[in-house]
Amino acid sequence: MSFLETQNIVKNYSNHRALENVSIQVNEGKIYGLLGPNGAGKSTLIRIINRISVADSGKVIFDGHEMRDDDVRNIGYLPEERGLYKKMKVAEQAIYLAQLRGLSKQDARKRLAYWFDKFDICAWADKKLEELSKGMQQKVQFIITVMHQPRFLIFDEPFSGFDPVNAQLIRNEIMELKKQGSTIMFSTHNMASVEEICDEIGLINQSKLVLQGKVDEIRESHRQGLYQVKVRRPISGENHQALLASQFYQLENFHENDLYWNFSLKKNADCDNVSIFSELSQKFDLISFEESIPNMNDIFIQTVQKLNTHE
Ligand code: ADP
Repeated sequence: MSFLETQNIVKNYSNHRALENVSIQVNEGKIYGLLGPNGAGKSTLIRIINRISVADSGKVIFDGHEMRDDDVRNIGYLPEERGLYKKMKVAEQAIYLAQLRGLSKQDARKRLAYWFDKFDICAWADKKLEELSKGMQQKVQFIITVMHQPRFLIFDEPFSGFDPVNAQLIRNEIMELKKQGSTIMFSTHNMASVEEICDEIGLINQSKLVLQGKVDEIRESHRQGLYQVKVRRPISGENHQALLASQFYQLENFHENDLYWNFSLKKNADCDNVSIFSELSQKFDLISFEESIPNMNDIFIQTVQKLNTHE
C-alpha cells in the first residue's frame, strides 16, 4: 500500500506551471528518489507535501487519509534552504524544535545525546550555529530532521553541500533509518546515490512526472541488448571479423592487445543471452561476458534529452 500518494497535483506560479498533474506513490518502508533536472518542480512538490505551499488542485494522501495539518508531526523534513536560527546554540535549538514536534524535553535530550555521540560532535552542543562551518550546520540540520523519529522522512537534496565522506555518512544513515522502518523520500539531481539506496524513483521533467517505478524494473525495461565481452586472443591467427560473424549479434567495438580481445556486441532481435553465450564459449577461451544494463544516470539523461528534443 502507498504510504504517501499525490494525486494530480497542479501548481502554478504567476507565469509558470511548476507542476502539471503529478501523481506519485511512495510505498511504506521504502526509499523513493524524486529525480529531475534543476527547475523541474521537485522542491515545489516536496513543499506541497509538507504543507508549506498549497496546490492549486490535486490531493496528498498520507497513511490512507487526505493529509491534515497534524500529520506534519509524523514527518521529518530537511529543506533545501537549510533554515536554522543562526544565533541560537546548537543543542538548545535542537531540543526546542524536537519539543515543537511532540517530544518531551527529557526525551529530546536523550535523543540528541544519541545523535551527537553517533556523529562524534558532542563538542558543538554549546556553540552558536553561526560558529559552525556549512557542512557542520548541515549535519545539525540532518539530526534535527530525524531526532523526533518521524515515520516519514523527506530530504530535499540531502547530499548537496557535503564532501564525499560526509555524503557517505548521510547515505548510510538514510539506509539505517529505512532498516528501522521509516519511509523515506528524497530529491536529487545527482544520480550517484540513486542505485545504491533507492527502491523506487519518480522522474520529473519540466513539471511533469515522466517515469516512475522500481529501480531494477526501470533498468530492465531500458535494456538495449548490448554486451561487453573479453576473451583470450585465439592462437589460430584468424581475423576477428570472420570469427565474430554470427546470426545472433553484430560486432560494435573491437580492441585487441597481445593477450586479449575486448569487444562489445549488439544482439539481433529475438536472440537470448544463452545462445550468444554458448556460441562465444564454443569459439573462444572466454574470460567475461556481461550484459550492459543502463544505469539510472544513463536513463535520466536519455529520457530527459528525448523529451526535450520532442518539445
Ligand atoms: P527543482 O526543485 O526541481 O529544482 P523547483 O520546484 O524549485 O525545481 O522549481 C520549479 C520551477 O518553479 C522553477 O522554474 C522555479 O523557478 C519556479 N518556482 C519555484 N518557486 C517559485 C516561486 N515561489 N515563485 C515563482 N516561481 C517559482
